[in-house]
Amino acid sequence: TTIVALRETVPGERRVALTPEVAKKLRARGARIVLQDGAGASASFPDSAYADVEFAAAPAALAQANVLLKVQPPSLEEIAQLPEGAIVIGHLQPHLAPERIRALRDRRITAFAMELLPRTTRAQAMDVLSSQAAVAGYKAVLIAAEAAPKFFPMLTTAAGTIRPSKVLIVGAGVAGLQAIATARRLGAQVEGFDVRPETKEQIESLGAKFLDLGVSAAGSGGYARELTQEERDQQQHALAEQLKAFDVVVTTAAVPGRKAPRIISAAMVAGMKPGAVIVDIAAETGGNVEITEAGRTVVSANGVSVIGTTNLPASAPVHASEMYARNLFNFLELSLKDGAVTLDWDDELIAKTCLTHAGEIRHEPTKALVD
Ligand code: NAD
Repeated sequence: TTIVALRETVPGERRVALTPEVAKKLRARGARIVLQDGAGASASFPDSAYADVEFAAAPAALAQANVLLKVQPPSLEEIAQLPEGAIVIGHLQPHLAPERIRALRDRRITAFAMELLPRTTRAQAMDVLSSQAAVAGYKAVLIAAEAAPKFFPMLTTAAGTIRPSKVLIVGAGVAGLQAIATARRLGAQVEGFDVRPETKEQIESLGAKFLDLGVSAAGSGGYARELTQEERDQQQHALAEQLKAFDVVVTTAAVPGRKAPRIISAAMVAGMKPGAVIVDIAAETGGNVEITEAGRTVVSANGVSVIGTTNLPASAPVHASEMYARNLFNFLELSLKDGAVTLDWDDELIAKTCLTHAGEIRHEPTKALVD
């Protein structure tokens, strides 16, 4: 089996889907590895760091691929250069770009969209959403600390005592919990909330305070459900008053397959302290804050900066790639025996993660969107 990884071409993407560590593990399982020249360079993995792999230009690498590993979805051009029936594994963003899904189907590619991986205990080691969300949560807090006009920690100095910043983390999933832990390490006074009731204990176990807004909305599979209008009003009403006390807010709330929930209105921002900073990790899916603009910092009339981050995992490409590549390895290992790939369609991790196979779209919601 020939496993191929490319240099990612999406602007700003610095991660690579195959690290030297994972390349070595795949070699040990009998696979042949072909990398595009410089594939890992932007993640600080020079070609020389990869032992026992071959290098080629992208078209030549793609033409040999039995398995293509990607961070960002393959382009239409890349799909066209793959042999029919090849396997593609990566973020495939099934809800975007129907023409890409059609191209994968028509080229009879077996495409695994890691976003579709069931979030079961067995799948944890393959969960790219979790590993990359942890990077995002960490980075968001550093960006907030950098932008804030205050210290995070309490300081006792000859010039008097500096009070710690008050930081609020909105949404306590994987990204939010990592954000809480990071803000705590920097010495801030941290509070967090979520609509899933089990997060109270998780927030508190990190030394932060659970901000109870009186809204509980657990959905299925460990996720939140969308709030009703009434619940949303209650959440916003309770939050508006509380927000006035915070110096920094990091928002991470998401509902699978939907636009990000709108949690902080423009009026709520207008009620915050001058100099307060909001970092909105959900910017790319519409934002948790009404005035968020993806890829930009918006400063409100009262001097609150709202930072709309995009692709935070790419900003820590070494560790983000290491975790991502291990996730893909653990997934691929399900099917890799003596250097050959055999897909076990009775395994729900294989069946449910599959987006296209043998000329068909296997994921019903995507099929409905594309056809
Ligand atoms: P996510 O990115 O979909 O959402 C982020 C957070 O936003 C979630 O905690 C969600 O409850 C919260 N949220 C949604 N609407 C909100 C609102 N209106 N107000 C406040 N918060 C809101 O979720 P995620 O971080 O990918 O995962 C969520 C949880 O799923 C994890 O904490 C974990 O318990 C579980 N999980 C399990 C596995 C596994 O077992 N393999 C893997 C990953 C996650």
